Amino acid sequence: MFRSLHMKLVLILVLLILSLMTVVGAFLLNSVVGFYLNDFYAQMAEVFGDAEFVRDLQIEKADEENGVSALQQVLSANKGALGVDGRNRNYYILDGKTGAYLDGSNEEKGRMLDKTPNLLAALNTGKIGDDGDVTADYMDVAIPITRGAVPYIIYIYDTRQTVQDLNSELFLLIIRALVVGLIISVLLSFLLAKTMITPIERLTDGARRVASGDFSHKIEVGSKDEIGVLTATFNNMARQLQETLQAVENERNKLDTLFLHMTDGVVAFNRAGAVIHSNPAAAEMLGRPIAQDSSGDYNTLFGDIAPLSAVLEAGQPGYLEGQRELSGRSLELLLAPFDRESQAGVLVVLHDITQQRRTEELRREFVANVSHELRTPLTNIRSYAETLSDNPGLPPETERNFLGVILNESDRMTHIVQDLLALSRFDSGHSEFHMTCFSFGEAIREVYQAVVLDAQRHGHTLELKLEPGLPEIRADKERIAQVMMNVVSNAIKYTPDGGRIAISAGRAGNRVWLEVSDNGIGIPAEDRSRIFERFYRVDKARSRESGGTGLGLSIAREIVERHAGSIALVDREGPGITVRMELTIEGPGHGR
Ligand code: ADP
Repeated sequence: MFRSLHMKLVLILVLLILSLMTVVGAFLLNSVVGFYLNDFYAQMAEVFGDAEFVRDLQIEKADEENGVSALQQVLSANKGALGVDGRNRNYYILDGKTGAYLDGSNEEKGRMLDKTPNLLAALNTGKIGDDGDVTADYMDVAIPITRGAVPYIIYIYDTRQTVQDLNSELFLLIIRALVVGLIISVLLSFLLAKTMITPIERLTDGARRVASGDFSHKIEVGSKDEIGVLTATFNNMARQLQETLQAVENERNKLDTLFLHMTDGVVAFNRAGAVIHSNPAAAEMLGRPIAQDSSGDYNTLFGDIAPLSAVLEAGQPGYLEGQRELSGRSLELLLAPFDRESQAGVLVVLHDITQQRRTEELRREFVANVSHELRTPLTNIRSYAETLSDNPGLPPETERNFLGVILNESDRMTHIVQDLLALSRFDSGHSEFHMTCFSFGEAIREVYQAVVLDAQRHGHTLELKLEPGLPEIRADKERIAQVMMNVVSNAIKYTPDGGRIAISAGRAGNRVWLEVSDNGIGIPAEDRSRIFERFYRVDKARSRESGGTGLGLSIAREIVERHAGSIALVDREGPGITVRMELTIEGPGHGR
């Protein structure tokens, strides 16, 4: 019940009022008693200090018969000065030796007088007994006097009733003041609650919302005092916290996205070897789902590469490396320990190096091919040149033949070098295309005209079947003509004399197509997929014989693909083959 600040405030105020009133009351009541006691003795000292009064008490009158009644007369005459009222305060005339009651202002009480310490002191020592006792419920003074040689004691006794009545009144007053004080304190506490506790409660509510992640609520700053400053500071803190959280969230989202889409596989394990995180690339590379259960523990997945303890002991920034061949793929593995804040474990990064290996292989093959292709003509040139220089007397015809071979071989080398340069320019992206608009049909016709004589020389039938209304296309005319030329020349080259070669072309949607069919030697099924590779030739000797470099079709494919077109073998039964090329009418950038 006293948990809330409001109740504590009420309690403090009530205790404050209670203790204040108790202390004030105690002091008040005590000092009233003290004051009354002092006042009584001061009054008595004054009256009994009066020499005339004392003389009246002590000196006998000439005709006096009874000393007691004379004393009675004197005392009665001074009732007012003594404050005697006959009820609460009385005077008594007592026997100076026995203390027996002789006369007084109240006979009934006088006969029942107790022997108080003051009275006993006066009786026994003959001195005035006027010791005030604050704790007693009465006040008295006993004055021994001698009148006409007879000893008496004038005894004044006060019941303190007046003081008690006054104290009761005061007590009631204090209680009333206390009740009023309590009511005021409760009212005050409400006022205090409004000015102090309400803002604190608002602050508490705001803090609770922030703790539960609700940053939208802004606490109203109601005052400029310490609570107001605290509220403003809290609002500021909540805003900064929200911004920081937002930044952290953004960063995490970025990392999550990166992690999700990165091509390298990543799997993180804790110290016990259980998976704590993995990305889809890792599962894809390992060819199995990586679950956060026993199937995904370190030993099952990478135990063969290195034991977990060895990786953990590698220490930062150390790491271990490994390789794995998995269903035709080569994976490079990097195993590193991590120790970040509360978590420690092992991180495995999987890198697919299949393509890299393949590229390296192709490069090696390519270099070997180039060297081989260049060495053959060079060897020929060298041996013919040597023969010529070693035998000066050769018949002129043989010499001419030899020189012819040397020229042919050097032409071949020039071809190879030119083709290689063209390919290297495509690879490095330095080759520029000169796009123009020209008639597709016209370009085919020009190629036809260029080869028709050669075809006839070989006894081939060369057919040209163009669909009517072939459009103009946007392309590098010279290069497209080079492709067509290459394909048609191949058909002529690889068809035994007297064959049939058909060039047909047409339009399909926003593309144009060209097909070159022959009924020649064809290409075995196992080589079909490779004839667009660099230096690939089905029959090396035959190709070389006919002046081929094995680069023609790979250059053709580079050119066509850079035009956003396609070139491929048509899947059909022999004899011979059909090569089909497609190009977009609008040129690269406008393809399907
Ligand atoms: P090449 O300069 O040797 O002709 P290409 O790149 O033009 O080189 O062709 C690659 C290989 O594809 C040729 O060596 C040949 O074996 C094969 N080839 C190309 N066209 C034909 C065809 N029409 N018929 C049979 N084989 C062909």
